[in-house]
Amino acid sequence: MYKYLIIGAGAAGVSAIEAIRTQDPTGEITQVCDEAAGYYSRPGLAYYLTGEISEDGLSPYKNSDFTCMKVHQIKAQAKRILPCQHQVELNDNNTLSYNRLLIATGARATPAKVPGIELDGVVKLDSLEDVRHILKHAHRRRTVVIVGGGITALELVEGFRARGLLVHYFLRGDRYWSNVLDETESHIVERRLKEEGVQIHYQTELAEIIGSRGRVAGVFTTEGKKIKCDIVGIAIGIQPKKAIAEAAGLKTERGISVNEYLNTSDLDIFAAGDVAEVFDPTVGKSILDSLWGPARRQGYMAGLNMAGEKVPYYKGIPFNVTRLAGLTTSIIGALGGREEDADVVGIVRGDSEGWRQMPDALVAQNDFDVNRLRVLVGENHLVGALLMGDQTLSRAIHRIIIDKIDITPIREKLVHPGNSINDVIGDFWTEIATAQGNIEYATIKS
Ligand SMILES: Cc1cc2nc3c(=O)[nH]c(=O)nc-3n(C[C@H](O)[C@H](O)[C@H](O)COP(=O)(O)OP(=O)(O)OC[C@H]3O[C@@H](n4cnc5c(N)ncnc54)[C@H](O)[C@@H]3O)c2cc1C
Repeated sequence: MYKYLIIGAGAAGVSAIEAIRTQDPTGEITQVCDEAAGYYSRPGLAYYLTGEISEDGLSPYKNSDFTCMKVHQIKAQAKRILPCQHQVELNDNNTLSYNRLLIATGARATPAKVPGIELDGVVKLDSLEDVRHILKHAHRRRTVVIVGGGITALELVEGFRARGLLVHYFLRGDRYWSNVLDETESHIVERRLKEEGVQIHYQTELAEIIGSRGRVAGVFTTEGKKIKCDIVGIAIGIQPKKAIAEAAGLKTERGISVNEYLNTSDLDIFAAGDVAEVFDPTVGKSILDSLWGPARRQGYMAGLNMAGEKVPYYKGIPFNVTRLAGLTTSIIGALGGREEDADVVGIVRGDSEGWRQMPDALVAQNDFDVNRLRVLVGENHLVGALLMGDQTLSRAIHRIIIDKIDITPIREKLVHPGNSINDVIGDFWTEIATAQGNIEYATIKS
């Protein structure tokens, strides 16, 4: 019987199992995971931290679903891959053999290199265990310092505010998430945080965490300023968990290098999700794409290919819906940044490097109060968009971008100052939707 071995029970690992079962109902599938919680929604952790959902709400699957898929689940850590023997050694001294192996080990939060990092009260937001740890301690503590410039740092800020702690938020630069958001968007987020009582410290870096009897007691900034606190939350980036692949001699760069079929440099070993570095045809190079949707799609494609199909994975247009300071925000396609965000080391959680590529495009924007729509207009199609607040046009714009719909008829109007982008795009989409049968005439063939 054919043996499939999956390392990791995250979005990529579980999707691979779903795909394998569509092709091979009887093959032996074993999944090894070193997290006690198994499969759960990592994006949901932020909502669990604020108290908006319970822990039960994080699980998309029940144990019985895995039983139905006939998966043998093992709680252990994969320690070593022996490609020549087609075996994987576990930390419980067992060895598993495989015909096809998937490495779906995800990524981990980048640890900060500052004195005091080992103190009780230094936290991160990476796993369910981390949130349980935070919740256990948050109610006994009063003040927290959060460090980091991306989505996860903001989730920590909002989580601790929701739990009633005084939050100091350190930004290395002079505004929030400057490699994805423009100045206005950053300021919208910052203003809302300030209204919630968050104290933002710009151009501020953590130099040292001070302890008292093994616990966090405060921090020193690089400017020598001391701030008392009893928790320090760090979210400065993530690193793919690729060590096991490197040790096995597989080709790696920032992640595990894979071809379009998700094969690593050993054709019987596949990689998918946050740990994999996939080729992005739109930017012409391999990138890390640390998002839930791509992890699921890559895992699924890897699963199909492991089961003998030959289906290429094409990285789609980046699309993420997230919440920034209470504002639903969709980020679609390429947005680019006009400057490097020094806070972001490598790639941040829930991030796609596709957003950072700055295409040759004009920016058109609409904003009123906290609803904001910004689109990047290419020669004859939209290349990216950011919607903050009002999401009415999100689906339409997503389709216009991914289908590369020719926007020549509205381009002039779009870039003309003073015109409402919402109205121009809304009317355009209504026309297209009405003429549904003719949509291919409006689509640029690539
Ligand atoms: C707080 C937070 C918020 C997020 N928000 C968003 C969002 O809004 N939108 C979005 O698109 N994405 C978001 N993400 C990112 C998204 O969750 C990830 O891209 C996705 O979970 C990656 O899936 P994966 O299967 O590659 O890895 P993971 O989900 O990390 O799963 C990997 C699993 O493998 C296990 N493992 C690792 N090494 C071994 C080993 N040697 N042996 C056995 N098991 C091992 C790990 O413990 C883990 O359980 C967020 C992530 C976090 C942490």
